[in-house]
Amino acid sequence: MRLTVLGSGTSVPHPRRSSSAYWVEAAGGTLLLDCSGPAVHRMAAEGCDWAALDAVWVSHFHLDHVGGLAPFLFGTKYAPQTAGRRKPLFIYGPRGTGGLLRHFDEAYDYGLFEQPFPVEVREVAPRAEFEPLPGLRGATLSTPHTSESLALRVTDRDGTSLVYTSDTGFTEALAGFARAADLFLMECSFFRSKPVELHLELSEAMELARLSGARRVMLSHLYPEWDGVDLAAEAKRLWDGETVEARDGLRLNIGE
Ligand SMILES: [Zn+2]
Ligand SMILES: [Zn+2]
Repeated sequence: MRLTVLGSGTSVPHPRRSSSAYWVEAAGGTLLLDCSGPAVHRMAAEGCDWAALDAVWVSHFHLDHVGGLAPFLFGTKYAPQTAGRRKPLFIYGPRGTGGLLRHFDEAYDYGLFEQPFPVEVREVAPRAEFEPLPGLRGATLSTPHTSESLALRVTDRDGTSLVYTSDTGFTEALAGFARAADLFLMECSFFRSKPVELHLELSEAMELARLSGARRVMLSHLYPEWDGVDLAAEAKRLWDGETVEARDGLRLNIGE
């Protein structure tokens, strides 16, 4: 699997970090992890083949994770690049994903589901297993962030695994869920003294890294408080493994 970071930031406007979105290339196709508002254009900026995108994963309904979904569907409805597309676009997310999209759609006469291709919304329960792409095994875990928020673990045909926490507070359950993952893509909203319980700060993220035995960790969803902090060096003081600081445009081969 190959990962491209589209947005390593949060809802707070930032000159170098746009909000949550990650492009995943697996053996069976492409998967977008969260679709923030900026993600719609970040995909194009990074050369991702957005017109052929196979599936979207929605982790929870905060707008820095789903704000681009309706605009993306508005774009694919009219774009020349998708006029000839016939294969379906799958949208996976927690219970309520379909209702959320319908609310967006009904806010005006958008016709978001009238596309040249089918749009299939599939709601996924916590602790469920599903197949987001052919040959890609997915599993979910409920996280302490919102009532619907889910972490996702995907394992490709060659056995490489990626765990994406999206936004979460601390729970040891995440370490078990990410056991020996090739890449543990964790939120780490704050460096220290986190002002809200339902996000992570560095010491908690490194505790989860240690407990999970993950091969490599990437920290993302970085608030501006991180500006000027050497994330990798601070992480190294707390956990001896490899921690990568997410940056917009960063590309990484998972499992290498
Ligand atoms: Zn967020
Ligand atoms: Zn959130």
